[in-house]
Amino acid sequence: MEPINIENIKVAERKYLENKKYRILKILISTTTILGFILLMFFLRKSNFNSYQNGLIGDIKIKDDKILGHFPYRETSFENLVEITPDILVHKKMYKSLLKMRDDAKKEGVYLVFLSGFRSIELQKEIFYSLKSIRSQVAMERARVSAPPGYSEHSTGFAIDIGDALNRETDFEVEFETTSAYKWLERNAAKYHFKLSFDRKQNSVDYEPWHWRYEGNIEALKIFEASNREKLKY
Ligand SMILES: [Zn+2]
Repeated sequence: MEPINIENIKVAERKYLENKKYRILKILISTTTILGFILLMFFLRKSNFNSYQNGLIGDIKIKDDKILGHFPYRETSFENLVEITPDILVHKKMYKSLLKMRDDAKKEGVYLVFLSGFRSIELQKEIFYSLKSIRSQVAMERARVSAPPGYSEHSTGFAIDIGDALNRETDFEVEFETTSAYKWLERNAAKYHFKLSFDRKQNSVDYEPWHWRYEGNIEALKIFEASNREKLKY
């Protein structure tokens, strides 16, 4: 019997085996990683999309910050304000456009009267909470303006309540919409960058045909961005 030469026994090359195993493992790891990544991206996208659709991500600010249908607004600083008629202050960046609108209306025989412009958060607090009777305009407004302090467009200086000088009994009344002042505004206000804030289409805040806001510059547009984004939905 020939002695077994250990060196002649064929064995699978360890090197080859190891290489193959390693390669399979490598393929497995990379495939799992790629698949996992794709799956992760898919679920993230899907959940983002669903949340957005439900108004949880894109609209979280809008929905959570709102109170009684009103968006929060910061009070503009005093140096931004100018007096447009006695006791009525408005944002200086809205002033010219507002005067021009009133003057142009006048040329057509329509007399706009400004009822309320800037209101400080402090005043808004009084209007909203005070049970004491407050005379004149404020009393009239108190009964009808429901914006809580910190949530009124009037605090920005870019909101103005307008009446018809020849039909003062319609001040702050829905009937204002029957006046020639309102009809003129409906046709022309956009030319001066004014827009009705609370129209009939929305249901959370009462229809206010007298309340207009100015969107004639980037600053104002930014302030009303959230509100406008919501308006796009209906
Ligand atoms: Zn108003």
